[in-house]
Amino acid sequence: MPRQREKVQRSVAHYRNGTYKEHMSNLSLSERLEILADAAKYDASCASSGTAKRHSRDGKGLGSTQGMGICHAYAPDGRCISLLKILLTNHCIFDCHYCVNRKSSNVRRARFTSKEVVDLTLNFYRRNYIEGLFLSSGIVKSSSHTMEQMIEVARSLREDHGFRGYIHLKTIPEADPELVERAGLWADRVSINVELPTETGLAKLAPDKDGKQIEGVIARIGDAIAESRDARKRFRHAPRFAPAGQSTQMIVGADEANDSQIIERASHLYNRFQLRRVYYSAFSPIPDASAVLPLKRPPLIREHRLYQSDWLVRFYGFTANEVQQATDADGMLPLDIDPKLAWALGYRERFPVDINRAPREMLLRVPGLGTRAVAAIMQARRCHRLRLDDLSRLTRFISSLRPFIITADWRPTLLIDRLDLRARTTPPRQMELFG
Ligand code: SF4
Repeated sequence: MPRQREKVQRSVAHYRNGTYKEHMSNLSLSERLEILADAAKYDASCASSGTAKRHSRDGKGLGSTQGMGICHAYAPDGRCISLLKILLTNHCIFDCHYCVNRKSSNVRRARFTSKEVVDLTLNFYRRNYIEGLFLSSGIVKSSSHTMEQMIEVARSLREDHGFRGYIHLKTIPEADPELVERAGLWADRVSINVELPTETGLAKLAPDKDGKQIEGVIARIGDAIAESRDARKRFRHAPRFAPAGQSTQMIVGADEANDSQIIERASHLYNRFQLRRVYYSAFSPIPDASAVLPLKRPPLIREHRLYQSDWLVRFYGFTANEVQQATDADGMLPLDIDPKLAWALGYRERFPVDINRAPREMLLRVPGLGTRAVAAIMQARRCHRLRLDDLSRLTRFISSLRPFIITADWRPTLLIDRLDLRARTTPPRQMELFG
């Protein structure tokens, strides 16, 4: 036993002395792949939606942005959070407390060369393991040095190999703005994480990062995307810049920020920078965690409720302010009901809504009616007046809908004012798969 402890201590000292470089060079490609794919799984912002359609059916190039890939990774809490992703390296000169790859973390380190990432991507693509590449990285030497290597991966894939699959590059904080602009010429999507909802949270948990600088990068990417779209309207062959837009990610539950603050920050990012997506990632406790982090992860349902609130703003015509009104006195969204139902229960005077006459905006506010159901209602009511039976063919939630709607054969009397309305409309609690 003492001998084993000695061995462990020697190995820790070996890592801490920075002599792990030699150790690292002994790692095989597959060992490094294991380390760097595992290290990338905490980043949730990798969905490949919304990019330009490209394919190689004409016999030129390789790959396609259409169809599905299979590269999934699972977070320790069981969520399927990734499509395809690796880090160029998990060495990092920054020390963000929530990050498993931070400078002071005692994890196995590894590094790929740009060429190795290119070869891996092509090999995996040809075997139909993946549909493209999501590449992020820790920071080695300097932000710009790291960014250059990541851009080289994307350039080589596109120029040297005619790769037409999807590429998402994470930009490195503090990298030269020119490099960030070059990244957008090769990648479908570029993104930089704002990391935390508030400046205070960022200063506390990521002391090396600067919120203003990160927003500056987001603004520049946004301008470049807008300019490229504009140029392509006038000149067909003007270069594309990040056709799938940009996204960002916020960690939920690592600092004291409440849901109301998160909704406000997301709304600011959507309105000011026209981001394609804001991803919310419930903080997962990491091995060897810093003492400033909470010991417990937030309930996963909190992340889900934030995604629902995000959809209300993006697709249901709610303002961020209205969604904030669904939060409680502590600024938190209820966990037992979705934010749309919470809002409706708080604004009962707006209901019941006449399904046969109400405008689309109001139909979208009825709890239980999704965008597709509303489109179908708008279509169907042109031909005849809708009854409850018609609605039950469009939605599964007809019983919880009743207090909020009027149809040709149904008008609720006092149902909307009942004290127990919340209990009557709360869906039965499902047991947690990963409780
Ligand atoms: S810069 Fe990125 S990789 Fe480095 S510690 Fe911070 S979050 Fe982790």
